[in-house]
Amino acid sequence: MRWILCAAFMCIGVIPAIAIGIGAYKTSVNSYIKQREVELTTYASVLSKELSNSAYFDNISSQTINSEIKLASDMYNGRIIVVNKEYKIVKDTYYASENKYIVTEEIIKSLTGKRSSIYDSANNFFEIIEPIEVYAKDSTKETSYNGAVLMSFKITDIVDYEKEQARKIQLLIVLECVLLFPLALILSQKMVCPLRKVADSIEQISDGYTEETVEESGYAETILIAEAFNKMVSKTKQLDLSRQEFVSNVSHELKTPITSIKVLADSLTMQENVPVELYKEFLTDIAEEIDRENKIINDLLSLVKMDRTAAELNISQVNINELLELILKRLRPIAAKRNIELVFESFRPVIAEIDEVKLTLAFSNLVENAIKYNIESGWVRVSLNADHKFFYVKVSDSGIGIPDDVQDRVFERFYRVDKARSRETGGTGLGLSITKNAILMHKGVIKLYSKENEGTTFTVRIPLTYIS
Ligand code: ADP
Repeated sequence: MRWILCAAFMCIGVIPAIAIGIGAYKTSVNSYIKQREVELTTYASVLSKELSNSAYFDNISSQTINSEIKLASDMYNGRIIVVNKEYKIVKDTYYASENKYIVTEEIIKSLTGKRSSIYDSANNFFEIIEPIEVYAKDSTKETSYNGAVLMSFKITDIVDYEKEQARKIQLLIVLECVLLFPLALILSQKMVCPLRKVADSIEQISDGYTEETVEESGYAETILIAEAFNKMVSKTKQLDLSRQEFVSNVSHELKTPITSIKVLADSLTMQENVPVELYKEFLTDIAEEIDRENKIINDLLSLVKMDRTAAELNISQVNINELLELILKRLRPIAAKRNIELVFESFRPVIAEIDEVKLTLAFSNLVENAIKYNIESGWVRVSLNADHKFFYVKVSDSGIGIPDDVQDRVFERFYRVDKARSRETGGTGLGLSITKNAILMHKGVIKLYSKENEGTTFTVRIPLTYIS
């Protein structure tokens, strides 16, 4: 890229310079030719005047005027021919065509008073034809012409002039290239520098040499790349961290009931003559721990299922009113145990395209939590509403609430606000993760509003029609 930029800068600098150079060269050569033309035409006009004043055609052998013609032709290194009105050449400084006749369009025109000037650029030849007036003492008389003077000159110095100009312009262009190249090199280096920096940092980070992030500097585009890359790196780090945390949490959670079982079993085997009552009590505890282990494993399996792609969803048309009523019916006995009132409010019948099993699990978790983390004789309200696009489920309770600072964390795997209480109520800390995953799989949204010691509300919004 650096060399492409460098070449582009060179082109931008040199191409206009060449164009300007060619233009300047042409203008300068043209103005030189024009200047020579003016010079020669003026001279031809002066000569024609002199021929007229001296009534040349009456005295062709005039020494003075003939030597003047000769002097002029020598001075300009050209040929001068004088033609009379019969188109006869009366004077030729080359003596080659004297007394011969010359009839050309320009000569015919010159006898009517029209002067011509022709430049043959291929041979650098100038031909000027100037009419010769009939000398008249009386200026009031009408002007007439009785001949023409034809001057042809080779502009020999034009070639040198052209060469000189071309050389100057070439020199200027070469000089420009020499000066421009290091400048273009520095500029292109400067321009690719931020990109190089980003690329180097990305390479170092990918190779794992550094823990740092890519420096967000340079152009707007490189800042955007650096930002996007840093975001990706931090996400990967977070993912890695949460995976590590998850594995350690899983091991810990699975180990806890097993450790309890081991302690209970050991204490039984290490004692002699253990009463049957103690056996019974310890074995009941062991059975409880096994149930807990079983629940953790089941929750983990549900979570793993939710982690798979949405293609695993088993979508069908489901009556959401019936689905929620069934969940409440199942949980009513648990609520009744703590004298908790369970109310269902439906604003309209709702039928939606969902995975029945997964959403049943999600809503059950919400209602179960609302009962679990409630006060004695509290209430749980479940409401269902819909518009033309979504259905909305709201689960509110009069429970203990969730502190503000941990509200974001309750959806994390194994996170529990009060570990002891959660354990008491058989919680694994996986319920809300499962719920959130199930809702996200349906392209839905879950939000939480809670105030400590006042209660909690979870709101869920899910599209009526499944969007794959
Ligand atoms: P658990 O199995 O512990 O209930 P969840 O993932 O379902 O795990 O919930 C995570 C934590 O969020 C719970 O341990 C509890 O502290 C808190 N929580 C969830 N729902 C409620 C609620 N309705 N009221 C108060 N706290 C709640």
